[in-house]
Amino acid sequence: MSRLLVRTLREDPASAEAPSHRLLTRAGYIRRVAPGGYLWLPLGKLVLDQVTRIVREEMVALGGQEVSFPALLPREPFQRSGRWDEYGEDIFRLTDRRGTGYLLAPTHEELFALLARDLCGSYRDYPLILFQIQTKYRDEARPRGGLLRGREFLMKDSYSFDLTEAGLEQAYAAHRSAYRRVFDRFGLRYTAVAAMSGPMGGSVSEEFLAETPFGEDRFVGCPACGYAANVEAVTTPSPAPAAHDHPPLQVLDTPDTPTIDSLVALLNATGAGGRTDWAAADTLKNVVLTVDGELLVIGVPGDREVDLKRVEAALFPARVAIFDDFASRPDLVLGYLGPQGTWKARYLVDPRVVDGTAWVTGANEAGRHAVNVVCGRDFAPEGTIEAATVRAGDPCPRCGTGVELRRGVEVGHIFQLGRKYADAFEHDVAGPDGRPVRLSMGSYGIGLTRVVATIVEQHHDERGLVWPASVAPAHVHLVPLRDVDAALEIAAGLDEAGVRVLVDDRPGLSAGVRLTDAELLGMPYTVVLGRRFADGYVEVRDRATGDRREVPVAELAGSLV
Ligand code: ATP
Ligand code: MG
Repeated sequence: MSRLLVRTLREDPASAEAPSHRLLTRAGYIRRVAPGGYLWLPLGKLVLDQVTRIVREEMVALGGQEVSFPALLPREPFQRSGRWDEYGEDIFRLTDRRGTGYLLAPTHEELFALLARDLCGSYRDYPLILFQIQTKYRDEARPRGGLLRGREFLMKDSYSFDLTEAGLEQAYAAHRSAYRRVFDRFGLRYTAVAAMSGPMGGSVSEEFLAETPFGEDRFVGCPACGYAANVEAVTTPSPAPAAHDHPPLQVLDTPDTPTIDSLVALLNATGAGGRTDWAAADTLKNVVLTVDGELLVIGVPGDREVDLKRVEAALFPARVAIFDDFASRPDLVLGYLGPQGTWKARYLVDPRVVDGTAWVTGANEAGRHAVNVVCGRDFAPEGTIEAATVRAGDPCPRCGTGVELRRGVEVGHIFQLGRKYADAFEHDVAGPDGRPVRLSMGSYGIGLTRVVATIVEQHHDERGLVWPASVAPAHVHLVPLRDVDAALEIAAGLDEAGVRVLVDDRPGLSAGVRLTDAELLGMPYTVVLGRRFADGYVEVRDRATGDRREVPVAELAGSLV
């Protein structure tokens, strides 16, 4: 440590909220250089290298071959796949001195698809799995949490190419089990959830979410059957259609009821429809959006909101926005809109709005609502959409138990892309019978820099980092309270036995400072050469459990496994 470039800080850095950001900075593992851009100091680099090594081992084990693309890429392939536009403001775009367009790659599907097309033209070249461990760039709107959401970050991305759908499914399954091994080796607690594919395109996709309170991804988990899905991908069970035995639609004067709460209060106060038990869930809220510029009205039960992220996921890649130009559409009466009206726009409903259900909704006149507005009798939606907010306690789509809402960090994502890129690049190979076969592709990512932060999110305490042995920069932190030379000798012995050691040989520090630093730096074991060292004993402290035991020096190496 007397030679090591590590500077520990006593205070948390300003504006760092996520524990990983605070602790990795305080312990001298990383330093901020730019918004979403971090320098890896020596201890941090050692952790990142361990994480990288583990991922590489598992990728090679599943038959992956490692390559490495540049991050600076020509624009043309991304234009051909459509992602130059789909990614919007999230990519860094550049122009070189000749005026040619480039980008800094957010991910490399196009390039891998072209590589396979150009070099592997025969069916004998498949199946093929290629991977790289490479720096990615995304102009994130909100870089956040230090390494958790950077604008430059390290990713393992792999790509599978297969002649058949069954082949693709095999490559996907192989990645899924490799990812389980990888995240287990990192000591991460995680859930694989059904996901939407987003800008990658394709259909089947799963995210690996590591549960932490600082995670940005919300997902539901069923405590009974284990179902897990991210909030965008959760499906809402539809109730069975109801009988059409409702009284006729009735329009009521409901002055000053622009909100659901004020409406429900008035209905109950006046005993509307002969009832005084009206609730927000009896009302139908109609929200007007634009989808690629076209109007879309979505009806959801009034005790829920429209969750724009869910709508965006359902309608991807269309651009969705809240419509607010009611002046241009006098037929749409803000706050009093009902689907039984004569206005013209697409109308989709929440899956709970099924045939025969009766609702309270706007009467398409300011200050008036209608009760007993029956789906299938008084209005006919064009279809359903997963748009309503998801809540804890909603029924699990698999078993009906109330789900829990959890937070996690997405550490990995696997996709069956199918033929999206093969179609874009007309990637066919000559099959055994000479006839062309269009390839099926999968893509699979792990955020390596994000993984480092996520491990810290799950493994730390108020005193500092607590590394799992698999990724720790060293296995043992040796703290001599008096005899530094003896410590260096012990370190040399451990080193020879294959145990990686960090020795605190810094001159002139108090025992307190050394031990505090050892806890902050977080090696799995601290070995203290203290009072009983003269009798041939050292103290071994387990960073994770806090256990302390006296061990004879001669047995030290053996006791540390
Ligand atoms: P997010 O939803 O968190 O923005 P994403 O779905 O856009 O991530 P993918 O395109 O699936 O990410 O990329 C694969 C992996 O790369 C992710 O699972 C994540 O671990 C990592 N990753 C993505 N964006 C970032 C980022 N800004 N900083 C660090 N890691 C990232
Ligand atoms: Mg993802």
